Amino acid sequence: MIPTDAMFGHNRKKMANTHLYKPNLVIVISGPSGSGKSTVIDALCKADPTLKLSVSATTRNPRRGEVDGVNYHFLSKAEFEAHIQQGSFLEWAAYGDNLYGTLKSEIVAAREAGKDAVLEIEVKGSLQIRDHARDLAPARSLLIFIVPPSFATLEKRLRRRQTESEKELRQRLDIAKSEVLQIRHYDYWVHNPEKGIAQAVKQIQAIIAAERSRIDDKLIETINPLLGVEGVD
Ligand code: 5GP
Repeated sequence: MIPTDAMFGHNRKKMANTHLYKPNLVIVISGPSGSGKSTVIDALCKADPTLKLSVSATTRNPRRGEVDGVNYHFLSKAEFEAHIQQGSFLEWAAYGDNLYGTLKSEIVAAREAGKDAVLEIEVKGSLQIRDHARDLAPARSLLIFIVPPSFATLEKRLRRRQTESEKELRQRLDIAKSEVLQIRHYDYWVHNPEKGIAQAVKQIQAIIAAERSRIDDKLIETINPLLGVEGVD
């Protein structure tokens, strides 16, 4: 049956003009070091102004070109530990010899800006977010894992960027192996082949579009008044 004006009543025009989706996603993107996730996420956020990248806190030293407050909030170990004590983190984890964490204030800032938050974080932190969904309410998590073409490619990319010592590079490759084994805890995977960034971005956009179309309580609350109906069936 084709809906008629009578079915929608005076709300029909309003419905056509209303964005039913209210941003409430915490989009977590992980993948081994060298999987190309930063480049993919950068392109993703540039293409969609309704996404806001969360700036993580870390105790690691800035790499050449990295800016405090833009790439990371660079903290001393004592500052990071004070944030842990104060309960400022949504999640945090050790990676190699450093600590990394997502400040709750980053998620609040995304929500206040009317955007979905995007987190580029490693696996232990992602699982904390998935397991403590209540801390996110009314937002919900979406976990995406970026899969590189091969370990040889990871190693090649890490060597090419020359940002780690040999010891750190080996450590990152070891961590990469253990991270790939955790993929079953994610909602979606995306392949990032050599020269395939555009394809990876497109796939993530499709996943986000599907998640934004999910029917949940929040949508029902929004859609019922627009359709002029009340209550729950
Ligand atoms: P990098 O030192 O290469 O910038 O980051 C090392 C790892 O830490 C990457 O896997 C990156 O995704 C992860 N990472 C960055 N920020 C966070 C964060 O806020 N929390 C967690 N758990 N991991 C993070």
